[in-house]
Amino acid sequence: MLVELINTGTELMLGRVLNTHQQWICRKLADLGYVVTRQTAVPDTGIDIRQAVMEALSRADLVITTGGLGPTSDDITRDLVAQMLGKGLKEDPEVLAHIRHFFERLRRPMPVRTGIQAMVPEGALVLPNPHGTAPGLAIEVRPNPYRAGGAAAWLVMLPGPPRELRPMFADSVVPLLKRVLPLASPFVCRTLRTAGIGESVVQEKVAGPLAGAVGEGMDLGYCARPGQVDVRLAARGPGAERVVGEAEAIVQEVLGPQIYGIEDEEQETALVRLLASRSLTLALAESCTGGCIANRVTNVPGASAVLLAALVTYSNPAKETFLGVQAETLARHGAVSEPVAREMAEGARRQTRADYALSVTGIAGPGGGTPDKPVGTVFIGLAGPAGTVVEHRMNPWDRETFKQVTAQQALDLLRRTVARAPGN
Ligand code: ATP
Repeated sequence: MLVELINTGTELMLGRVLNTHQQWICRKLADLGYVVTRQTAVPDTGIDIRQAVMEALSRADLVITTGGLGPTSDDITRDLVAQMLGKGLKEDPEVLAHIRHFFERLRRPMPVRTGIQAMVPEGALVLPNPHGTAPGLAIEVRPNPYRAGGAAAWLVMLPGPPRELRPMFADSVVPLLKRVLPLASPFVCRTLRTAGIGESVVQEKVAGPLAGAVGEGMDLGYCARPGQVDVRLAARGPGAERVVGEAEAIVQEVLGPQIYGIEDEEQETALVRLLASRSLTLALAESCTGGCIANRVTNVPGASAVLLAALVTYSNPAKETFLGVQAETLARHGAVSEPVAREMAEGARRQTRADYALSVTGIAGPGGGTPDKPVGTVFIGLAGPAGTVVEHRMNPWDRETFKQVTAQQALDLLRRTVARAPGN
């Protein structure tokens, strides 16, 4: 199966927007067993899009385009493709009704031009867009005028905004591919997500026990991101389900509590689910992460059942006023210290009456480090029913990575502690 991806957008060429679709779609497709064979990015100009689509259709069984389905003058993919395939455009009443309803919900008048998004090429399937106005489109190009022998291909057009494209891909594209372009042999892929353990240690622990599965043809991959490592197990063929199933059991046994989730699950999602299932509440007292942990927790639907309060206490007086950290502790040990992390967590727990309170205090850099406490020093405190623990970590990365890694470590400390707490 030959699969090509075309990302359109002049902003991609200008470096104004990072082409995240390239990575996201390739990964999603690969997890389903459809490996992208070629990827192209082109500006919004007709000649470039036409050329890229023509070339892709001359080679591939599946071509996916992104962007250019909106209402503005630079959104030309739909019209261009209809023209290239000799198809007329027809207004789809259902799509038009959806667009009208979309603006009614926003209590805004519908701009006349947005109606253009209801124009659908003849014979195309409409992929609904609950998060925006431009539907995706899928057309079977049969016969395919651009391929030798006219062999058919599927052309799938997706909107540019990630928050529209991603759910559409999961809800409409995946079922469509399974129906119209089923894979010749079964493909099974599982991703186990770990935190609190480095990439080489993960490899050291799992590579030996998985040697048998790898010998049977299973693909074993690792993907390291700030504060976490994913283990990817994939196999093709009739025995794929068994091989991957057995390998997954081995990884679960070897890495145990270090695994926080499977597939796309984020650490905070697993955590909110765990806390909610045990009716436990949480408070946060952040300094150097500046609300990064609170942001991640509140990204999870249902976080309100768990999170009582999150304070970003950046200055010493704020730590004293809102968390009751002692002036003497600050003066004696400094704001970045084990005792301050402890008092921050205990203060947040006391003030909010949460079951657990997590605190972080550290030196993100690039300035502010000392020989005793170099840049990257972090103390993560956790106060809970069984007492308080403080972990000392070194995260000497750039500020953004520092915040992400520290947030990941803090969430991981909490998840591991709650998971092994007695009486649950
Ligand atoms: P719209 O209705 O917003 O015009 P569209 O389908 O026409 O949608 P584009 O105009 O091409 O899509 O892109 C809209 C926005 O989506 C871009 O400004 C950008 O923020 C985001 N976007 C587009 N392509 C990508 C990409 N490859 N990776 C990440 N984001 C992208």
